[in-house]
Amino acid sequence: MKYVTAKRAGLLSCHSCGRVEPCIRSVTPQHCGRCGAHLHSRNPDSLMRTWALLIAAALLYIPANLLPVMHTSSLLGSEDDTIMSGVVYFWTSGDWPLAMIVFIASILVPMLKLSVLVLLTATAQRRSRWRPQQRTTLYRMVERIGRWSMLDVFVVTLTVALVRFKSLAEITAGPGAIAFGSVVILTMLASMQFDPRLIWDPVESRTPTPQDLDHD
Ligand SMILES: [Zn+2]
Repeated sequence: MKYVTAKRAGLLSCHSCGRVEPCIRSVTPQHCGRCGAHLHSRNPDSLMRTWALLIAAALLYIPANLLPVMHTSSLLGSEDDTIMSGVVYFWTSGDWPLAMIVFIASILVPMLKLSVLVLLTATAQRRSRWRPQQRTTLYRMVERIGRWSMLDVFVVTLTVALVRFKSLAEITAGPGAIAFGSVVILTMLASMQFDPRLIWDPVESRTPTPQDLDHD
């Protein structure tokens, strides 16, 4: 199969309205003829921004899991729960569907999203030609899950509501909850900053120019 990107064909597409127009090198910055938005052949500094957001998310993933996300106080005393101890608590008290939901939404999905984005950014940076189609599919999956990202936070809120309903305990969010919310938001922003077209740049069919021969 032959791939030619719009960039190689000398075309620019508008991020806002999708209009495709010829790239005029003498005009910088070029504006969209229809909606007036700035035109870039690729999101500027896409990889740098994605890395910065991913590193921040990965760092916050540690306190999100180590610090208590909820503080329970009742007549029997008070208790701090991390996400994992909450999962263990639900599992041992027989609420295993709830344990599964919290585990998937709060531990598994954020970790998978982070790992996939690290993989995509690292391969794009190395200009890898490895399985571009599958990598694009992975990106689409992360984007699709991204729409449901707030589900993670929703699950935690729902859990708190359920526990509050069941017992006479007073439950408040712990510092881990802030870290967790930040991980969710930073990962979402990272996937928005990543430009999936970078996956296809090294793969496009080449008309051998001296530059290309130097490259390979
Ligand atoms: Zn436009």
